[in-house]
This record gives sequence, C-alpha cells and structure tokens, in this order.
Amino acid sequence: MTVNIDWENLGFEYHKLPFRYISYYKDGKWDQGQLTEDATLHLSEAAPSLHYGQQAFEGMKAYRTKDGSIQLFRPDRNAARLQDTADRLLMPQVSTEQFIDAAKQVVKANEDYVPPYGTGATLYLRPLLIGVGDIIGVKPADEYIFTIFAMPVGAYFRGGLKPTNFIVSEAYDRAAPHGTGAAKVGGNYAGSLLPGKKAKAIGYSDVIYLDPTTHTKIEEVGAANFFGITANNEFITPLSPSILPSITKYSLLEIAEKRLGMTVIEGDIPVADLDKFTEAGACGTAAVISPIGGIQYRDNLHVFYSEKEVGPVTRRLYDELVGIQFGDIEAPEGWIVKVE
Ligand SMILES: *Cc1c(COP(=O)(O)O)cnc(C)c1O
Repeated sequence: MTVNIDWENLGFEYHKLPFRYISYYKDGKWDQGQLTEDATLHLSEAAPSLHYGQQAFEGMKAYRTKDGSIQLFRPDRNAARLQDTADRLLMPQVSTEQFIDAAKQVVKANEDYVPPYGTGATLYLRPLLIGVGDIIGVKPADEYIFTIFAMPVGAYFRGGLKPTNFIVSEAYDRAAPHGTGAAKVGGNYAGSLLPGKKAKAIGYSDVIYLDPTTHTKIEEVGAANFFGITANNEFITPLSPSILPSITKYSLLEIAEKRLGMTVIEGDIPVADLDKFTEAGACGTAAVISPIGGIQYRDNLHVFYSEKEVGPVTRRLYDELVGIQFGDIEAPEGWIVKVE
C-alpha cells in the first residue's frame, strides 16, 4: 500500500494511523496487550490520571534507513525511564521486554507510514501510561492502561539547523527541588505552558528554567536539556535531580567523549557565567539539537556562536547522532534495535 502523505512538509501534528498498541493492568498484572484500530481510550470519569495527574509518557522515533529497513534508537532507555517515572508515581512498571515488543508491533503495523529515507521525517512513537478505574480518593489507581500510538513527523529544521534565542525565566520554575522534575509526567508540562506562551509572545523560542533552589544555575531549555561547548573542547551539561534525563543528551555526551575526543562534564552552569561557552544547544528527541543563538538574562542578550548560524561543534554532534539514528554511521553497541 502507498499512502498519500507529503513527507517533506510534515510538521509535528497528530495523525490518526490505523493501529496502536494497548495493554491493561488489572488484578496486579498486565494482560498480553494487543494492537487495536480504536484510537479512543475508554476510561472512568473517576480515573486518577485525569484528576491527580497519575500518568507518564515517553517520546521516541522509528527511522527508515537507506536500505529501506526500519530501526529504533535506544528504546531500552525509554523503557527504563518510563519504569523510573512509574516508580515515582506509584504506577506498575512496564517491563523493558513488553515496552520494546509493543513499540515494534506498532511500527510494523503502521509500516507504510514510516517516512522514506532522505526526507528527514520519522515515525514518532508516544508511549503513555495512565492510572484508570474508579478511584476518586487521593491514592494510586488499581488499574492502568499502557498504550503506544504513532504518527509520522517532519524533520524539525527543514532548511538546516537554525539557532534561535531563549529567555531566562525568573518568575516561573518548571519543577520543585525534590518534586517530579526528573519524571516524564504531564503535570510538569501543564505548568510550563504559561511561561512558554509568554516567552513566545515576546519573540523567544521558549524559556530557560533555572534551578528551583537558588535560581542561579541553568536547568532546562523549555522541554529540552541544555548543553554548552567551550573553547577548551569541553561538552558541559547541568547535573540536577530536577532535570529530566534526556536520552538525546546522554547520547551526545557519549559521542562528544568517544568520537569527538571532547572532555565531558556534568555540573553546575551558573547563568552569570555564560562567557565561557562558544556554542550552546538544547537537545531532545523531537528536534535532536536546537542550536541556541542567544540567551536573554535580565537586560543582557548573551550570544554564543551566532544568532544566524550553527556552530561547528554543534553541527558535528548533530551529524554524528542523526547519522547513527538513520543507520548511515555505525552505532555504539546496543543503540540500534531493528524492527523486523
Ligand atoms: C522528554 C524530555 C526531554 C528530552 O528527552 P529525550 O529523551 O532526549 O527525548 C528533555 N526535557 C524534558 C522536560 C522532557 O520531558
């Protein structure tokens, strides 16, 4: 079957594909799980996910390679992170085996919607774990739904990597010091909509969040992780218990160290100390890397490499990672899982 999609001009929008995976947790265990054509979830009006935010999600992609095969990038890392989030919110874990098997089933069933190699487009997968059942009291659900649905999404930067500017938020935090910042939960996102909207209204791509304890150190760039490059060939990224551990970030960190021969450092990044960085970027599955042109902090716009052009180290990191994801460059052991 051929599908009628303009792969070159896809954005990041919901697209109802023929199949998704769904599994129910009841009486203390997950069922077998299956593919379904029903794109609507059926749940109680008293479901804890709706009232108290007992829910978690993931984001990952399937890539079409040059030879036409399809592969996933480090799905075991997404499975492990969903398990960590589940622990934090008292939800049952989905095993890595079930998670990867579900992802493969969804990709395989919607194979015609995996964009062709060379378009930069991918099949985005959205795993979702929610507490359901009739529980109106503030306590964990006793029933859960785990689902994975998918949609084709376009390359984030169509005309090549383009830097944009961000503004430091001093009025809002993304997460509490010992809250759920490291868990991939919708609640963190609900609270970030307003600061994000305000930043965009005055011409920035999004806000930079500072650490919620001292408000002096960079934590996150909207819903992406921060990294900076120094003239001393260092790759520096913040370390904090309220940052969401980005799989893209840890992959770049490994590439920087092992393939680009850089010194990698996880540590504090004082917002008053941006001068040492020659380049900076935000990273996550959706955009891979968004180069940061400048950061507005109070009255000062700190420009890194350029507001117009991506820096050379950011570009090398991007090319290496994207090359691995699409199968053009040999991957480190265990990073690629073929969908057969
Ligand atoms: C998902 C997410 C990221 C990026 O993680 P990846 O695994 O690289 O996609 C970064 N920050 C936040 C807040 C996130 O939710």
